[in-house]
Amino acid sequence: MAYGSFDVVRNVSFEVRPGSTTCVIGPSGSGKSTLLRGINRLHEPKSGEVLLAGEKASSMVPEQLRQRIGLVFQHFNLFPDHTALDNVALALWKVKGMPRAAARERAGRALAEVGLAERADHRPRDLSGGQQQRVAIARALAMEPEVMLFDEATSALDPELVKGVLGLMAGLGGRGMTMVVVTHEMGFARRAADQVVFMDEGEVVERGSPDELFDRPQSPRLQRFLSEVL
Ligand code: ATP
Ligand code: MG
Repeated sequence: MAYGSFDVVRNVSFEVRPGSTTCVIGPSGSGKSTLLRGINRLHEPKSGEVLLAGEKASSMVPEQLRQRIGLVFQHFNLFPDHTALDNVALALWKVKGMPRAAARERAGRALAEVGLAERADHRPRDLSGGQQQRVAIARALAMEPEVMLFDEATSALDPELVKGVLGLMAGLGGRGMTMVVVTHEMGFARRAADQVVFMDEGEVVERGSPDELFDRPQSPRLQRFLSEVL
């Protein structure tokens, strides 16, 4: 994948099994966000192919692809003047064309799933950062995606709120959601990942089980990265 003529991600190949959690780790600027944006075509890969259940992502309508592959960012981008419920329901009636009542009902269920049933009528400013991120996660879940991508979903949160959101993500994984999680939380990667992918300078340098990557790193680059972050 390139920005202009500047190649930033190349030689990336990995498989994500249904129901599994893949954590992507690597230094700042290594191309993790670019990779996720390439997966759901917020950034068009110059070459290569993303397959979703055997189907080429490049042959899907981008909006439909993004309903099947949800993305949660570091900054939650909620609409400030809408309640939590409407933030979740909005895309359901606007993008999915659901009738409003059905959209609100499903939004309510998604908020309950992230533990926010009681806060449905609150606006973002009346919610904590962790709760706002839960609303953003509920918004993605409400689309009933087949895969969820998380790009440093806890990086903007106060330290005391991080654990709760990571717990929610681990719970989703435990209930069978297929997830690709870019994270700086090595503890989470070790506990929750079925597969860990280490990127450096735009490439996948190493991938394997958490035990393999964290306890027996093979490449000097991963060894150096781990010695800096652990
Ligand atoms: P971080 O951990 O800091 O979020 P990252 O691994 O997500 O880093 P990317 O954001 O994917 O890294 O960036 C990969 C490379 O692409 C970097 O060298 C970055 O400077 C460059 N890059 C990112 N976005 C753009 C852009 N819009 N135009 C040009 N270059 C970009
Ligand atoms: Mg990034």
